[in-house]
Amino acid sequence: TPPLNFALLGAAGYIAPRHMEAIRATGNKLIAALDPSDSVGIIDSYFPDAHFFTEFERFDRHIEKMRRKDKSNSIDYVSICSPNYLHDAHIRFAFRSGAAAICEKPLVLNPWNLDGLQDIEQATGRKAYNILQLRHHPTIMELHQKHANSEKHLNIDLTYITSRGNWYLHSWKGDDSKSGGIATNIGVHFFDMLGWILGKHISTAVYLKTPTKVSGTTQFAKGTVRWFLSIDSNDLPKVALDKEQRTFRSIKIDNQELEFSGGFTDLHTTSYKEILAGNGFGLEDARQCIEIVYGIREAKISALSGDYHPYLK
Ligand code: NAD
Repeated sequence: TPPLNFALLGAAGYIAPRHMEAIRATGNKLIAALDPSDSVGIIDSYFPDAHFFTEFERFDRHIEKMRRKDKSNSIDYVSICSPNYLHDAHIRFAFRSGAAAICEKPLVLNPWNLDGLQDIEQATGRKAYNILQLRHHPTIMELHQKHANSEKHLNIDLTYITSRGNWYLHSWKGDDSKSGGIATNIGVHFFDMLGWILGKHISTAVYLKTPTKVSGTTQFAKGTVRWFLSIDSNDLPKVALDKEQRTFRSIKIDNQELEFSGGFTDLHTTSYKEILAGNGFGLEDARQCIEIVYGIREAKISALSGDYHPYLK
């Protein structure tokens, strides 16, 4: 099959190279890229012939011109690596350009953004796919399989400390209206993964919420999860400090540590392969994790009682 044409938004950012890699690894082509920042030398490592724009209007005009010139020039997929609060607008741009969208997590910030996008999916016949790469992680897939047909109730402790420097709170990631806050920006992967394994979300209590950390307890149909998410290096446990690690990730299922340290490379490429093969995760797949993180953002803090993460003591 001839290569498909891709355009990419947010080309200068941290995650964009994984998308460039995935586009190349699946035998496709990046035709045009946009970023208001022009620090995009990375493009040379993947697609030196791609057109690059710092202004949306010029990017839009270029894509429209290609589309009108002839069918073989039109964009098939738009990859979206921009800040979270822009995703829904960028998905609409993809649809209007006659393309499908492959969008970074979180797909959108609020559940009702999904309803709006569903209407436009129907009207245009285009689709939006979300990168939920943990669903392609071998260990997580195994867990999903194992519990798919079981009614067993699991007790899970999730601890994720991923230290970030001072820049974080000064960037869009530190602005709740742009990133959704820690639970949304850092946690959405885990809430999606947990829901994929434990089924329907029942309720969430939030016990701690600051700009750098958030903790609570979530009930799913098939499990209770006590979770603690932080970007503050002061929360790193001794085991991480001893190894000079700035990230600590632990998932304990019924008190048993899940071995889950490797297997993270290339999950973007796997995600692309599955999307291109017709097995992508769409708007409805993303709905539950978006509802959970939206709920955490809006939640009042509960007094500590019942089941809560051990770090809160
Ligand atoms: P980043 O800040 O490094 O990059 C974002 C880029 O978007 C910047 O280069 C910025 O200039 C650009 N941008 C800003 N406004 C824009 C606009 N109007 N149009 C086009 N581009 C614009 O952030 P990042 O860490 O690369 O995150 C980008 C997205 O990827 C976010 O949605 C984030 O949640 C997601 N992400 C996913 C993973 C994952 O594991 N799947 C990891 C990190 C980030």
